[in-house]
Amino acid sequence: MKRAIFLDCDGTIIVDKGYLSDPHDVMFEPDAVAGLRAMAASGFALVVVSNQSGIGRGLFPRTAADAVNGRLAEMLLQRGIALAGIYICPHAPDAGCHCRKPQPGLILQASAELDLDINGSFMIGDKQCDLELARNVGATGILLTTGAGAKTEGWARENGFGVCTSLLDAMGCVQKP
Ligand SMILES: [Mg+2]
Ligand SMILES: [Zn+2]
Repeated sequence: MKRAIFLDCDGTIIVDKGYLSDPHDVMFEPDAVAGLRAMAASGFALVVVSNQSGIGRGLFPRTAADAVNGRLAEMLLQRGIALAGIYICPHAPDAGCHCRKPQPGLILQASAELDLDINGSFMIGDKQCDLELARNVGATGILLTTGAGAKTEGWARENGFGVCTSLLDAMGCVQKP
C-alpha cells in the first residue's frame, strides 16, 4: 500500500474561479507546482478529490469538467508531475450522494483502486469539508490559507488541524514515507 496526498483542486492547486468550466482558466496557486513536485519526489501518490457540483447543478456538462481536469493533468505532466488520479463528485449538494466531500466516497474509491494507505495519508484543502473528509476517513487533514482558506483558519486550529500557506509550505507537515 502506498501513502497518498489527497488534494482539493479549486483554491488549493489552482485558483478558484467558481464553477470552472473552461480549460483556459486553469491557473496554479503560488508554490503549488513546487509543492506537488516535492510531494511526488517524497514518494506520495498524488490524488485529486474535487466536488464539481456545477455538473449536477446543470451549469455545464460533464465533458466540460473532464476537459478542465484533463488540462490540469496535462499542465502538471508538462512540469514533471504525474497525478495518480482525479476523482470528482459531479452531484448537486442535495443529491444525497456518498461522494460529495465531506462524504468519504471519493477517497474510499481512490484507495480501493490505487491500493492506498488512508491512515498514512494526508488530505489538503482550503475548506472545512476537506478537513472533515480527512477526519471521516482517518487521514491527516491540512488546511491551506489559499483560496477560501482564511475563513476556516480559526476552526481548523481549534480542531487540531495543521494550517499552511501553500502546497510547498505543507511539505513541512508531511513526513517522508
Ligand atoms: Mg477548494
Ligand atoms: Zn457525489
